[in-house]
Amino acid sequence: MTPRRKTHQVNVGGVLIGGDAPVSIQSMTSTYTYEIDKTVAQIRTMAEAGCDLVRVAVPQKRDTDALRSIIDQSPVPIIADVHYHFERALESLDAGVHKIRLNPGNIKDRKQVDRVIAACRDRGVPIRVGVNEGSVVERTDKDRRAAQQSAIRENPHDRLVQLMVDTLEDYLRIFEENDFRDVVLSLKSIDATIVIDAYRAASRRFDLPLHLGLTHAGPPETGTIRSIASLGALLADGVGDTIRISYAADPIYEVEHARELLCSLRLRDRVEPELIACPTCGRIEIDLIKLVADVRQKLVGIKTPVKVAIMGCVVNGPGEAEGADVAIFAGKGRGIIYVQGEQTRTVMEADMLDALYDECLKFAARVERGEATLTGRSVHIVPPD
Ligand code: SF4
Repeated sequence: MTPRRKTHQVNVGGVLIGGDAPVSIQSMTSTYTYEIDKTVAQIRTMAEAGCDLVRVAVPQKRDTDALRSIIDQSPVPIIADVHYHFERALESLDAGVHKIRLNPGNIKDRKQVDRVIAACRDRGVPIRVGVNEGSVVERTDKDRRAAQQSAIRENPHDRLVQLMVDTLEDYLRIFEENDFRDVVLSLKSIDATIVIDAYRAASRRFDLPLHLGLTHAGPPETGTIRSIASLGALLADGVGDTIRISYAADPIYEVEHARELLCSLRLRDRVEPELIACPTCGRIEIDLIKLVADVRQKLVGIKTPVKVAIMGCVVNGPGEAEGADVAIFAGKGRGIIYVQGEQTRTVMEADMLDALYDECLKFAARVERGEATLTGRSVHIVPPD
């Protein structure tokens, strides 16, 4: 892991982005913002799952009218997502929003952008300035558009990355001329390789905090891989200050996957159990996949980061259990449970779920009472060749 690149720090309603602040998780509601109760309910669910910041769309006046009530009830800072209508940004600021997401490219009147920047400065509210792969090609100037498209056809990847970073630089000039520094940057694409290279280039060129995201990833079933591949590569490089995974699904998946990504890269401490399981093979003699699914569900209630390992046999040796706080090694119709490397009991297959859960509960309680400490070590489960 490369150490985090230090960026200018901004404060979003008490959540710091950039500098030495931990990488924060953000997501976006899928409700109509003017439906206050539904929006607040979704924000609360996202916050409980570990979301630090929530963005809401404000396409209409009735959305910004709802913002004050939403902000009052929200457990986390709220970001207003503004496109085309600068008035929505001003109304959101009046409602007390903590950050504005703005694309100066779709607010054509420079004076309107200046007004939003001035209002943000007055209130100490940062702005995210984003470019998306789909919106960087010139739309109005036909000659310029043709030249850009021709360049992209020649070398699609490099030209697109360059165009995204150059467009962002053009936008940033507006903020520099307004002497406004509290800016977070994003450069999104549906292509993981463009995301990686665009953010790497931006990281070299700007010292502002970066909001990482791969846009329009699709459903979690397919979007997870490209999202984690790109965001994981950047975070491992020390690039990125806040992340948003975006799926065509309930935003709770975005938050859960973002949290798992940060925990896996040790950029965030776990607060819940970590479950490790073998992939199964021809040696398996129990229904391990069902056991893993059942244990995963049961562990949800435990709020201690106990490391739990479920292994289909003892091929890799009980020594593997030393890295887990609680582990089970299954055999023919039965399993041996270990707690921090000590064998505690042998149970029949029908009792594995309850027994393993019981050991997890007891161990978590001992940790809470200060009678035991978590191993804090990785468990290496090596399947046979
Ligand atoms: S050999 Fe490995 S993968 Fe196969 S059942 Fe045993 S622990 Fe699981």
